[in-house]
Amino acid sequence: MTGPGSPHRSLLVRSAEHVWCGDAAGTELAGVSILCVDGRIDRIGVPAEDWPKADREVDASGCLVVPGLINTHHHLYQTLTRAFSPALGCDLFGWLKVLYPVWSRLDEESAYVSARVGLAELLLSGCTTSSDHLYVHPRGHADLIAAEIRAARETGIRFHATRGSMSLSEKDGGLPPDDVVEDEDQILADSERLVAAFHDPEPGAMVRVGLAPCSPFSVTPDLMRRSAELARRLGVRLHTHLAETKSELDYCRERFGETPYELAGRLDWLGPDVWFAHAVWTSQLEIGMLARTGTGITHCPTSNMILGSGMCPVTDLLAEGVPVGLGCDGSASNDASDLWQEVRQAMLLAHLRSGADAFSSRDALRLATNGSAACLGRDDIGSIEPGKRADLACYPLDGLSMAGAALDPVEGVVRTGVRRAAHTIVDGHVAVEDGRLTADHSAAIARHRAIAREWAEATS
Ligand SMILES: [Zn+2]
Repeated sequence: MTGPGSPHRSLLVRSAEHVWCGDAAGTELAGVSILCVDGRIDRIGVPAEDWPKADREVDASGCLVVPGLINTHHHLYQTLTRAFSPALGCDLFGWLKVLYPVWSRLDEESAYVSARVGLAELLLSGCTTSSDHLYVHPRGHADLIAAEIRAARETGIRFHATRGSMSLSEKDGGLPPDDVVEDEDQILADSERLVAAFHDPEPGAMVRVGLAPCSPFSVTPDLMRRSAELARRLGVRLHTHLAETKSELDYCRERFGETPYELAGRLDWLGPDVWFAHAVWTSQLEIGMLARTGTGITHCPTSNMILGSGMCPVTDLLAEGVPVGLGCDGSASNDASDLWQEVRQAMLLAHLRSGADAFSSRDALRLATNGSAACLGRDDIGSIEPGKRADLACYPLDGLSMAGAALDPVEGVVRTGVRRAAHTIVDGHVAVEDGRLTADHSAAIARHRAIAREWAEATS
């Protein structure tokens, strides 16, 4: 079987119909082939050139090729509670209160199979790098992050795990119940252990680890500050939810007498090594603060719409130079792990908020590629250029849904019903070919179904 991790040194992506490179110059090329060697893009040229015999070839004729998409916010374990009826129709706080007790069942096996399922879905959508924010660590199950890193390696996707945490339970004024919060010293010790065990700081890394206390209403300010100190000592990135809902803004004003951003600033949580998910409730002054400090933002359009959280001011953030990436968010507030769909949603939501001329499909693609790469602190992915990692997504231009979209392949693929990649290539390895995953996920999917059913039956 040819699949993720199988050893081919060179790969020729042959005869792409159109390539959107996503580089600073906005390069687009028609009718080219791309040679990948040792996981890097080696050469881009016309198919008629004299190409060396590659170990493996992929036919990209009839395809739009873009840099592999990068997902900068997800909670993979939530694939076990998709479209979960008791939580539907709730806003964020109500939704979390319904789901915390269900998620308290999470163990190593469920963390593993849920990551396999979510990451496989992401690959099918053309995503080649995903982060994950795993903040539910029920007592007694210490190695959930190791389980999802194992799943990522078997899936063949590039993976940024973040060690999430919750320490402020309901009895201390937080939102989560007692049985899903942890001791703060234990959180920090486990974070340091995971960085030592799995974080690869080198260019081309397939696995990195960051630190990610969950939100201002589920951890203490002290844990936020100590996490920031630890991340900087270890040289890893910081991530959390911030300014997602009006309720969070009210909570912070009431409890701390400041906005979420003022709280973040006081706790040393602004800087080029920090990225926040959501940023829906962000003032113009706070946008300036994000820009000055180089703090990144992940836009999660579908999740914000499902929970009715509001609209992230994406065009205003970009106008001030804030790095903005894209994310699915967890599969219980999106219900799909489909980053291509998020590209389309980002374009549509920006039109709704700022007007039909405010944001193009290319702008949305930039969020999912180089914008996301900036959030993760990576300059080796996010564009198609010689020397960059060979992470590519190829979308079919010749399917039924593209019929009639003949003028502009980029606008065509984003706006029409194309959702699945024809081929997805990660670090020069073919993870999806002709719309199908090259690795066998059937056992993990079957187990995932069984566990999700057990959780649902235990809840009803
Ligand atoms: Zn989230």
